[in-house]
Amino acid sequence: MKEVQHYLKDFQKEKNWDIPESEFLETKMAILNNYMLLTTEVSEVAEEFRGIFTKTKQLQQSENLTEQEAFLRAKELHKENIGKELADCIAYIMKFANYFEIDMEESFYNKMEEIQRRIYIERR
Ligand SMILES: [Mg+2]
Repeated sequence: MKEVQHYLKDFQKEKNWDIPESEFLETKMAILNNYMLLTTEVSEVAEEFRGIFTKTKQLQQSENLTEQEAFLRAKELHKENIGKELADCIAYIMKFANYFEIDMEESFYNKMEEIQRRIYIERR
């Protein structure tokens, strides 16, 4: 995760896509704009999922497959695009992490530990 975060920091800086620090209004607009772009990418993931379900129905009829067989084939057909959309989401998430100087790997494991403890307490 550290490698991905560093890669994206350099990549976004090189493309001039990082969030500027110069003045409040410019920074605020960049944060809002990038937040909108992140939510757009999240909806693109949903579009791919929707595409799987549509394709499942189509394959079921055209190829005379069971629903499960058609679903597995549709899933395979959408796999590459889902990967691309998830990558887009990660790029925006890392952009925010880099702007706020958050070590995402550390933050991720801390949060998972917090969830783990919460689950443990709930089960007691
Ligand atoms: Mg996309």
